[in-house]
Amino acid sequence: TDTLLNIEGLSLEFKTNRGRVKALRNISFPVRKGRILGIVGESGSGKSTVLWSTLGLLAGNAEVTAGRVDYGDSDLLTLDAEGLRALRGEEVSVVFQDPMTSQIPVLPYARQMSDILYRRSMSEAEKRTAAVDMLRRVGIPDPDARVDAYPHQFSGGMRQRAGIAMSMLTGPNLLLADEPTTALDVTMEAQMIGLMRGLRDDFDTTIVVVSHNLGLIAEMCDDVVVMYAGEVVETGEVHDIFHNARHPYTRALLECDPARIADVSRKLPVIPGDIPDLTKPLRGCIFASRCQKVMPACRSTTPPLVERGTGVARCHLLSGPFADGGWPPPNGE
Ligand code: SF4
Ligand code: MG
Repeated sequence: TDTLLNIEGLSLEFKTNRGRVKALRNISFPVRKGRILGIVGESGSGKSTVLWSTLGLLAGNAEVTAGRVDYGDSDLLTLDAEGLRALRGEEVSVVFQDPMTSQIPVLPYARQMSDILYRRSMSEAEKRTAAVDMLRRVGIPDPDARVDAYPHQFSGGMRQRAGIAMSMLTGPNLLLADEPTTALDVTMEAQMIGLMRGLRDDFDTTIVVVSHNLGLIAEMCDDVVVMYAGEVVETGEVHDIFHNARHPYTRALLECDPARIADVSRKLPVIPGDIPDLTKPLRGCIFASRCQKVMPACRSTTPPLVERGTGVARCHLLSGPFADGGWPPPNGE
């Protein structure tokens, strides 16, 4: 499969009054064309920051310190504001967790959706037809009338469908979604997963979705990136990650009844311990403070990223003296 978007060596810091938080460190992964890639991690793992950094949608105190985000011939990190706006208007779309933050309360959907098509040489009637067709495609009942509704007249689930319709209107190559179903109930969430997979199939849109919900990732995605405390710890295809996880963090996330992995109501389990202070110099494996398999070497030496299965993983158990030796006992005895 071709790579549509390639994140390479991305590092980012937030300037705060506690010091510089090294929020992303050397993040690399490809997004394959026509696939749905899920980025999963706890809050604070940097998963949303990776997503928004690709479009320059970052807080004012964020600073990219290294890396590139290649899309076609351009490095998105070097595009100016106008270049990013043009890209967002046509080729790349976003779906937010809360549609109320991205939909304009005082404008009916017909107007908001025709505004999205402002670059197109279409008549107002054609834009309205396009809006109605897309609302119908995402499952809004009676779209000919509902296109004149305001966001507050829709239920939460309908609003998220309308949000997806708005983001699909230009037929984007790439759709970025941050926790798109978090505000919805389980039934609605399952419907939304089906909807987004269907849209990917119909429009050949590549999707990157950020979630802390393993069930959603298992049901919706083809590829997974597991993040922990600002690093990629493991990547792979969904079937591979869910059956052959190699990193102790991924394994800890998956520790539960395998029959429930595809349960969309399943959120990340709580793993005891704290993530390291990302304002301090970091040494060794980032997961050492919480890892059940920690060995002395883990606290002093950063494990390399090694290729395994359909992706990569970063753990001393996969390389060096412990390579291919399965799971040595704690402390390397
Ligand atoms: Fe655990 Fe060590 Fe592997 Fe880190 S390198 S995940 S601490 S076993
Ligand atoms: Mg987030």
